[in-house]
Amino acid sequence: MKSVYLDNNATTPVDPRVLDAMLPYFRENFGNAASRNHRYGWVAEEAVDKAREQVAKVINAGSKEIIWTSGSTEGNNTAILGVAHMYADKGKHLITCRIEHKAVIDPCKFLETQGYEVTWLEPDPTGRVSVEQVKQAMRDDTILVSLMFANNEVGTIHPIAEIGALCKQREIIFHTDATQAFGKVPIDVEAMGIDLLSLSAHKIYGPKGVGALYVRRKKPRVRLQPLIHGGGHERGMRSGTLNIPGIVGCGAAAEIAMNEMPTESVRIAGLRDRMWAGLSEHLTEISRNGNPQHCLPNTLNVSFLYVEGESLMMGFSDIAVSSGSACTSASLEPSYVLKGLGLGDDLAHSSIRFSLGRFTTEEEIDYTIKEVVKAVYHLRHMSPLYEMAQQGIDLSKVVWQHH
Ligand SMILES: *Cc1c(COP(=O)(O)O)cnc(C)c1O
Repeated sequence: MKSVYLDNNATTPVDPRVLDAMLPYFRENFGNAASRNHRYGWVAEEAVDKAREQVAKVINAGSKEIIWTSGSTEGNNTAILGVAHMYADKGKHLITCRIEHKAVIDPCKFLETQGYEVTWLEPDPTGRVSVEQVKQAMRDDTILVSLMFANNEVGTIHPIAEIGALCKQREIIFHTDATQAFGKVPIDVEAMGIDLLSLSAHKIYGPKGVGALYVRRKKPRVRLQPLIHGGGHERGMRSGTLNIPGIVGCGAAAEIAMNEMPTESVRIAGLRDRMWAGLSEHLTEISRNGNPQHCLPNTLNVSFLYVEGESLMMGFSDIAVSSGSACTSASLEPSYVLKGLGLGDDLAHSSIRFSLGRFTTEEEIDYTIKEVVKAVYHLRHMSPLYEMAQQGIDLSKVVWQHH
């Protein structure tokens, strides 16, 4: 078996159909969409308009509400900093959650250094916040609620429609980082009361370095202070010559994801369930992280007690996954998301995220089950921790050393 890719929440391969759609825009159709007086410009503009419609349709938005970005990091920054600066007269309080992606956490932390106040909601042990928690945190000076649609590490989905309705009622702008949810689960910005939504092409089988921010145009008309000035492209919210091939790829990827969602979400959820069933059948002392009801179809996060995730990953080097102690910095810190769910260092360190995708096959899942089970057995039988636990030593008293 050639290598198995189960890290689709980190990035996805470009779908060949997406690449085919992009290629002409590197070759003959190389125009600048801002060129108004010749065919090259018109062709590029037409392609951008089509892509805008393709993306808008997935979330029931209007095509004029789509702003092209370089991806979700930029989309999240544009939304959060843009609202904070534009509505500072109204208030300087924001609400978000501890287990957001860094692309939401870091701009919020930055705002804390600029005189803003942020309420950091604590999720429940499955990674969800309740409408009641959001309600309790709201104040007269709250200008923004930013909560991700689905979590990238554990796949948990917040009660987005209820939170959106609450925000509408209180006239507070609602942003959602939908990078992991877009194209995987149904999203309706109207029915869900979403005002701002970030998405990224490379998580949906499109190219890297391109994405979009949905910005609501009516009820209410959301205004943003731009991060990037110059030329007034994208309704003045994001200047710069548009990345035409990337945008065409984002549009094509969105359309394919939408068309295939009904069948793909069922197929992929089936493979995920097969994987969990297979692991549970052969291994004891494993647990599933996240929310089994409110979750993405493709994400399975598992803690294998007494085994370090990093070592486990090395035990099956031809399978690409992520571990709960991903080296985000120089140190091997356990994932702040898993810790945010209340997992101890031991469980966080022993977790693996399997994120399935469009090109995942049943054969690959069966191979992965076999390899993971083998590696866990091997490591547990070499592990002093496992031995200690078998002897009845309380491992919660063990202090983990950082590497
Ligand atoms: C990948 C990801 C991002 C960052 O997106 P980029 O387009 O790579 O900048 C933000 N939020 C979530 C939830 C993600 O999964």
